[in-house]
Amino acid sequence: MVDRLGPELAEPIFDRVAIVGVGLIGSSIARAARRVRAAGAIVLADASSEVLRRAEALGLGDEYLPTASAAARADLVIFCAPVGANEAIALEVGPALKPGAVVSDVGSVKTDVIAAIAPHLPEHAHLVPAHPVAGTEQSGPEAGFATLFVNRWCILTPPEGTSTEAVAKLGRFWQALGSNIEVMSAAHHDLVLAITSHVPHLIAYNIVGTAADLEEVTRSEVIKFSAGGFRDFTRIAASDPTMWRDVFLHNKEAVLEMLGRFSEDLTALQRMIRRGDGDGLFDLFTRTRAIRRGIVELGQETRAPDFGRRAAQDGDG
Ligand code: NAP
Repeated sequence: MVDRLGPELAEPIFDRVAIVGVGLIGSSIARAARRVRAAGAIVLADASSEVLRRAEALGLGDEYLPTASAAARADLVIFCAPVGANEAIALEVGPALKPGAVVSDVGSVKTDVIAAIAPHLPEHAHLVPAHPVAGTEQSGPEAGFATLFVNRWCILTPPEGTSTEAVAKLGRFWQALGSNIEVMSAAHHDLVLAITSHVPHLIAYNIVGTAADLEEVTRSEVIKFSAGGFRDFTRIAASDPTMWRDVFLHNKEAVLEMLGRFSEDLTALQRMIRRGDGDGLFDLFTRTRAIRRGIVELGQETRAPDFGRRAAQDGDG
């Protein structure tokens, strides 16, 4: 499995890239783009002047500006804030954009994000939404690392009629950062991610919440014996509360649809246990084991006990 960024590009893909929101994802894009020279210049903006100061101390960009000024001369503007902030950012960025500018985002939800951004962009800009399916439970500019996107999927969801040139150029940018590209509709993205990411996070939040509500003595045992499976849920349930609140508020329909199916299947499992249906349980667990093997074989995970995450982060500079 390739886990390194490629060599520096001979020519940057975009001359000037503005990143709005310098958290885990925004700072990782800045680090990776700088490492492979995918951007001629990197301009950073954030709602928080303190975050921007920290980004500057880390040397993540070439310039640190207010949002509208950052977008003004950019060839690519990437929104990297929680999805609930996208409309406010689009209102600031829209009037400043130069002709031909590509506007993108990294939101974990796509239909609502397009609805929030598109109306505020001028005709002369190209909206190409994107979702890098990569991340950790950490937040902030210190949490990012240049190899975050290596060998991970980046899903592009251009609305109908988007310039194919703009889509191809953004695709090349993400490929330079190490990602594999997939293009699909925003609605399909939201359904796929509801079951592969959003509902699993909800389950983790729920099970950790249930454990937290147990009596004190039992809770300490839960923590002590967490290696039994609970520990992996606590990692997911430690994910950023603002980001995940926004994901559930903005992918409501797809999440509720998948949650409905999940509840039905859980009821079936409950029945199998109550009726002592060992064959039913064994058949299901055999099928789910095959899915896990498929993920490992596709290089999206390792067999290591910590799922290889620590090694990936240690490799970053
Ligand atoms: P993060 O580490 O919390 O960073 C977000 C940054 O955006 C913060 O510095 C925040 O400042 C800033 N911000 C908030 N509102 C803003 C505004 N109106 N204008 C400019 N900056 C603003 O979040 P993240 O994990 O990088 O996630 C960012 C986006 O990536 C989200 O849309 C998420 O759905 C997507 N994503 C996340 C992951 C993941 O695993 N984390 C994976 C794929 C995609 P404050 O702290 O002051 O609010």
